[in-house]
Amino acid sequence: MRIFTAALATETNTFSPICIDRRAFEDSLYAPPGTHPQTPTLCTAPITVGRRVAAEKGWTLIEGTATWADPAGLVNRATYEGLRDEILDQLQAAMPVDAVVLGLHGAMVAAGYIDPEGDLLTRIREIIGPDVLLCAELDPHSHLTAKRVTAADFFVVFKEFPHTDFVARAEDLWRITVDTLEGRVKPVMSVFDCRMIDVFPTSREPMRSFVDRLMAIEAKDEDVLSLSVIHGFMAGDVPELGTKMIAVTDANPEKGARLARELGLELFSKRGTFMMPQIDEKEAVSRALAATRGPVVIADMWDNPGGGTAGDSTVIVEELLSRGATDVAVGMIWDPIAVQLCMAAGEGAEIPLRFGAKSAPGTGNPVDGLVEVVRVVPNAEMRFGESVAPFGDAAHIRLRDIDIVLSSVRVQSYDPSLFTALSIDPQSKRILVIKSTNHFYAAFSKIASEILYCSAGSPYPNDPATNPYRRARRDIWPMTADPHGAEVA
Ligand SMILES: [Zn+2]
Repeated sequence: MRIFTAALATETNTFSPICIDRRAFEDSLYAPPGTHPQTPTLCTAPITVGRRVAAEKGWTLIEGTATWADPAGLVNRATYEGLRDEILDQLQAAMPVDAVVLGLHGAMVAAGYIDPEGDLLTRIREIIGPDVLLCAELDPHSHLTAKRVTAADFFVVFKEFPHTDFVARAEDLWRITVDTLEGRVKPVMSVFDCRMIDVFPTSREPMRSFVDRLMAIEAKDEDVLSLSVIHGFMAGDVPELGTKMIAVTDANPEKGARLARELGLELFSKRGTFMMPQIDEKEAVSRALAATRGPVVIADMWDNPGGGTAGDSTVIVEELLSRGATDVAVGMIWDPIAVQLCMAAGEGAEIPLRFGAKSAPGTGNPVDGLVEVVRVVPNAEMRFGESVAPFGDAAHIRLRDIDIVLSSVRVQSYDPSLFTALSIDPQSKRILVIKSTNHFYAAFSKIASEILYCSAGSPYPNDPATNPYRRARRDIWPMTADPHGAEVA
């Protein structure tokens, strides 16, 4: 068997001003054929798992380019076309093949392309013809367009959010591929449109039990090869926005359609109950100030660079300053220009500085003040589980007894070590302000006396009912109260 594999992935927040060009892919991950490292990143596990499977089977794996850009705004047109054509040329040169197994994300939008993954899959189908297996692993924060469903044989989607299972799902993708090529199964994909958009953390109920049930059905029902939920990605303003349920069966489309519908309507019945409770910046600061024991962690949950925002909102900092809060550390605010000024000033200097809120509306105002430059660190980094996350040249400034970390590379606040890297002891503070939606929880819950999920300003389009969509469909909940009409009570 000869199998072609490649990866092309990013997550596009169409409201973000941080646009993506080829350099952004090269900065995150750009691996030409054969150069992908042994450890997978989020969307490239089909390559590393594929190497293992091909070696076991004695099959030939032909690697194309694997590339990933961290979530941000619109992808430059020439960048998308260049990376796409690079992969298509590699596939053309590899023909004939028995299967194409891809790592995608599924929420890319490029200038001139509302559905780049649909475009890529369709062009691949044109090259390989109707009978060669074509499948991909997807992130659930994506858009399942009709074009993609038509072009591909099946998709496998991460079940967990946070996405702790991207390798396990790549293994599912390859297991179904092997069983298909060896003639044991014939995968057929059935899709149900849940007609809703929501956020579904699996670290809490009710999504935890739902995902456990999907895995239980997969384990016991021989007809069911894979079950997936496309959560949808509300920051992507695209016509086919929304939550979809996928059932991949062994040549049993009636059963697949029935199951996808039944499970999809169950999700719909729980709409609006999946997210953690959120409070605004006034309530968050009041509750943190009233706490008898620290540190209270305030998560600025929607100004999360991991969701494509700039990470420079000052709404919570402004609230803290106006309330005269002391003994606070903020980690971090993205402002490469302010960092540059602090580095030029040097440690110990006192300078007039303007920082934050320069990239987008709804993120507060730039803060002006006479600040002390406490510490500057070139190429700073924090821990992230077993690995490290760099946040570039960084400065620790102090403004009226609030310690603030300024960064020059956008990354969410994964771990308290972002503070210690700048000589701030997070455990000694009364209040810690961080920028992350969900990934911070594992590390910060170990030191926090309390965690407050704060929705401050509007850095991210987090309310589909009022987001200023231009292209997204409106026949889904919450834009429409009863999108299934009389069909569903
Ligand atoms: Zn995701």
